[in-house]
Amino acid sequence: MNTLFDLTGRTALITGSARGLGSAFALGLAEAGARVILNARNGEQVAKAVEQLRAAGHDAQGMAFDVTDEAAVDAGFDALDAQGVGVDILINNAGIQHRMPMVDLALADWQRVIDTNLTSAFIVGKQAAKRMIARGGGGKIINIGSLTSEAARATVAPYTAAKGGIKMLSRAMAAEWAAHGIQVNTIGPGYIETDMNTALINNPEFDAWVRASNPAKRWGKPEELIGTAVFLSSRASDYVNGQIIYVDGGWLSVL
Ligand code: NDP
Repeated sequence: MNTLFDLTGRTALITGSARGLGSAFALGLAEAGARVILNARNGEQVAKAVEQLRAAGHDAQGMAFDVTDEAAVDAGFDALDAQGVGVDILINNAGIQHRMPMVDLALADWQRVIDTNLTSAFIVGKQAAKRMIARGGGGKIINIGSLTSEAARATVAPYTAAKGGIKMLSRAMAAEWAAHGIQVNTIGPGYIETDMNTALINNPEFDAWVRASNPAKRWGKPEELIGTAVFLSSRASDYVNGQIIYVDGGWLSVL
């Protein structure tokens, strides 16, 4: 059997994984053999998601914290240390969107979007990498970017700035931690059917625009991101570092 993508014996922390893409990543990595640690702010949702994975026979546990709260993140990693659990794979997936014309955008909203989508990857990534290095090196970090890591659109300025930043933060992490056997890459999803996009999916004009302008003529589904995440979590990607892989139905090719 081909074991290139086997994640047996690996522990993966996926932030923002109570629903949406994070929940698909957790299921996909668990199916590839990993023990998964789920996270979100809402502890009840985390517990429910953990229960679902366990019911399907997977090894899962939960840890509710806000990825923008450095003290809470540090406490979460300390708790894992105390349990003897080391994170081998980190997916910095937690993210939020806030649509607003820039001239009307409050600084607090700008800051919240930047903190959640960009600064959080530094806060969580630093704690994960510190421990990977202390254990003798080796590990995988996947940061979640977006089409907006490459192409700008109106009314999502802080999201675009954050996702552009994620691409380069991943490269900075890759440059700094490659010598420790840690690979850091970015996944850039296109428009995917999740709660984040409910308002857009239910907006007939936006929905029609997505279907008309994407070469795939449809929205993506969360499970369509799993293969890339498993690849970037596995030894199959040991010489892939600092890259961004867009999973967008070919959209960027025609933009
Ligand atoms: P969802 O809104 O469906 O889910 C987001 C998850 O993140 C939830 O579990 C939420 O739980 C959690 N979360 C949000 N803020 C925080 C926080 N501060 N700390 C911890 N957890 C948090 O989003 P998606 O699944 O659609 O998006 C996942 C990632 O993919 C994001 O980074 C997003 O930017 C990116 N992406 C999504 C695309 C799409 O089309 N859906 C396209 C491109 C990129 P809770 O609220 O309980 O904390």
